[in-house]
Amino acid sequence: MIPYPFTYHRAGSLAEAETILKASPEAKLLAGGQTLIAAMKMRLAQPSDLIDISGLKELSFIRAAGDAIVIGAGTRHFEVAISAEVNRLIPALAHLAESIGDPAVRHMGMLGGSLANNDPAADYPAAVLGLDATIRTQRRSIAADDFFTGMFSTALDEGEIVTEVSFPVSARAAYAKFPNPASRYAMAGVFVAKTKSGVRVAVTGAGPCVFRVPEMEAALAADFTPHAIAGIEINAADLNSDIHGSAEYRANLVGVMARRAVAAAQ
Ligand SMILES: Cc1cc2nc3c(=O)[nH]c(=O)nc-3n(C[C@H](O)[C@H](O)[C@H](O)COP(=O)(O)OP(=O)(O)OC[C@H]3O[C@@H](n4cnc5c(N)ncnc54)[C@H](O)[C@@H]3O)c2cc1C
Repeated sequence: MIPYPFTYHRAGSLAEAETILKASPEAKLLAGGQTLIAAMKMRLAQPSDLIDISGLKELSFIRAAGDAIVIGAGTRHFEVAISAEVNRLIPALAHLAESIGDPAVRHMGMLGGSLANNDPAADYPAAVLGLDATIRTQRRSIAADDFFTGMFSTALDEGEIVTEVSFPVSARAAYAKFPNPASRYAMAGVFVAKTKSGVRVAVTGAGPCVFRVPEMEAALAADFTPHAIAGIEINAADLNSDIHGSAEYRANLVGVMARRAVAAAQ
């Protein structure tokens, strides 16, 4: 394999990372490196500069703030999984973090990297959308409903850095996931929550991008039981088909995972 050059920077602060990012249009932020390094090895990404933000203390925190938990973008998945605060206030989020990949991935991967990458089978997007969370960058706040714009794409602008995510504490919430047995990515994962603004059902893994299911949300608003959504079929036309499973298989999985999530949330 022919090596190609890039410049590695270890950012000492968020401000420094932003300055380097501004100066180098082909630069990329490096968080846990669980996706980016693999993409570089496969030549799917060839950044001119890597700006390592994994050591920034200002991005690594979990704190309760009123009726929400705010988690820094540089917080690793295992830290969310074992956090006493998250387990106390939003146990479904801790459970979701615990289900990501394997211990090595959970000890390297970070919340901000996962959201910025927006893999169609990633877990965090389901929690962010299901809990009606707010993504904050160094420039603005973005509502979950506006953040995930398509497969591997988000509302982030050029040079925008995810700094933290505010997850509102909900009355009830649960996540049920059918993992790919090899990678542990979601074949279908459903996050269900009773939030202040109503019931939300967010699905990852099944389609090109995380999405909500309004029909299930309306049924659960009237009757928050697995029975209430038993008859709701997911249209397979917009779902993913690949070597791991057909769209019809995933459509069925979404129904099963949604009912399991509601049962767990009860
Ligand atoms: C074997 C394996 C199994 C996995 N299984 C799962 C799974 O079951 N569920 C799941 O959800 N995920 C899974 N993952 C993905 C993993 O958990 C990480 O979430 C993912 O790799 C991205 O996070 P990262 O910190 O590694 O980001 P990186 O790879 O460092 O970066 C990813 C992208 O995000 C950008 N970026 C990073 N941080 C920021 C920021 N703060 N602001 C803006 N842009 C940023 C980078 O420039 C890059 O483009 C798996 C990964 C592997 C390798």
